[in-house]
Amino acid sequence: MKTLVILGASGDLTGRLLLPGVARLIASGRAPGITLVGAGSDDWSAKQWQDRMTESFAEAMEPGGSSTTAGIKELKKVQKDSRYQQVDVTAKGAIGELLAAVEGPAALYFALPPAISQKACEVLKKKELPAGTRLVMEKPFGSSAASAHALNETLAGLVPEDHIHRVDHFLGKSTVLNIMGLRFANRLLEPLWNGEHVEKVEIIFDEDLTLENRARYYDHAGAGRDMIQSHLLQIMAIMAMEPPATLDQQDVRSSISAVLRASTIGNSYKPDLADSTRRARYTKGTIGKRKVPDYVAEEGVDPANDTETLAEVEVYVNNWRWAGVPFILRSGKALGRARKEAVVTYKPVPHLPKGFTGTDSPTRLHIGLGPETLTLDLDVNGPGDLFTLDRVQLETELSSDPLLPYGEVLEGVLNGDPLLSVRGDTAEDCWRIVAPAFDAWKKGTVPMEEYAAGSNGPADWTTSND
Ligand code: NDP
Repeated sequence: MKTLVILGASGDLTGRLLLPGVARLIASGRAPGITLVGAGSDDWSAKQWQDRMTESFAEAMEPGGSSTTAGIKELKKVQKDSRYQQVDVTAKGAIGELLAAVEGPAALYFALPPAISQKACEVLKKKELPAGTRLVMEKPFGSSAASAHALNETLAGLVPEDHIHRVDHFLGKSTVLNIMGLRFANRLLEPLWNGEHVEKVEIIFDEDLTLENRARYYDHAGAGRDMIQSHLLQIMAIMAMEPPATLDQQDVRSSISAVLRASTIGNSYKPDLADSTRRARYTKGTIGKRKVPDYVAEEGVDPANDTETLAEVEVYVNNWRWAGVPFILRSGKALGRARKEAVVTYKPVPHLPKGFTGTDSPTRLHIGLGPETLTLDLDVNGPGDLFTLDRVQLETELSSDPLLPYGEVLEGVLNGDPLLSVRGDTAEDCWRIVAPAFDAWKKGTVPMEEYAAGSNGPADWTTSND
């Protein structure tokens, strides 16, 4: 790619996440020769755009970390040469005109409200897009399987599928490659990675952050749409997928797709959704030294939206390898302990020789999703008395990428590699899987529970190692 065009240059995502990610990427020397163009509906002066870049680039401009001297020099040049253009992306021909004035091939990043992105794509014509143009779409991608399908059809009329990058910044290189490296490079793990040996898999993303002034978005999304529908299902698919032949995007994304196609909430044709899903909302409490109000008293929240701040769903991957194994996906806000990990719990041994006493707990493998860690819980003979079993943890750090998540995502976009982008069919399947839960929640057939901010959720919502 020669040019990165950010549509929505004045927006929150651009300032807080996208520009710092671009800056880290360029300053680390991993994206040479890129031109950056900002575009938005506001009539911004060149200085306003420069000021925004100065603020967002500040950290990457500091030597050290992943920033190199040559990379910082390159970043300064990118900033100096960057320009801002006012454009109404929903006006016919506007994006075509914008693209005609930049050096191609270009990546067009839709950092816009979802409805505006959709409208912009609907008025866009294939002939306005120079060869090699890539389209980068933010989440949420649609709001149901049907709307995601319609958006996919619109995009398919513009560029080939492998030129569409549906961003899921959880699919950072380190998360995806660490799980695959661990699973597929160790003979010890893969033969036991199935329903014969695994009792359950939990994918947990508990945050100690609260609403943080994001009611405008979050009060309509909730924990289910914000986290489970997208990020956690993607991680589940990487945990459950068949070994791909190569790390090529086609092989990896087809393996991910096969898992999601096989997945449903609940373990039967007509699951009891009150049994296989749970939702809850935080009430006032304390997190560290911080006093947190009731969620419904937070600024901008409308209680009528009935939004959950903690959600859990039990997904089953209905294939030979995983039949009958629950994948428990849980995420929430305002919890006492930030916990981001995938936990594989193995079945008990078929027979423990009589005579052993002490702990007899299942073998557990924890893959930390930030910080990136690996922990294996095992029972071993205890110190002092060899007939007593004791619990030990074998721990190591896994590698992480010094680029911020958006830097990792953009590296794929600028190198023209959709490996870490969500494929169209997968985006639709993720909505299909969660739809029964969202319907049941909307109808009120699954009660809204409560938990005090700073607790670990409602008392009976236990997870492994609680
Ligand atoms: P904002 O509302 O902060 O920004 C939207 C941007 O779109 C503004 O720059 C706005 O410009 C511009 N815009 C709106 N209408 C038009 C138009 N017709 N033509 C050109 N530009 C237009 O949204 P966010 O930055 O928060 O979100 C953007 C996308 O990123 C959304 O899809 C969101 O779901 C996703 N996202 C956001 C995250 C976040 O933390 N903010 C995290 C993950 C994903 P103006 O103000 O001039 O109208």
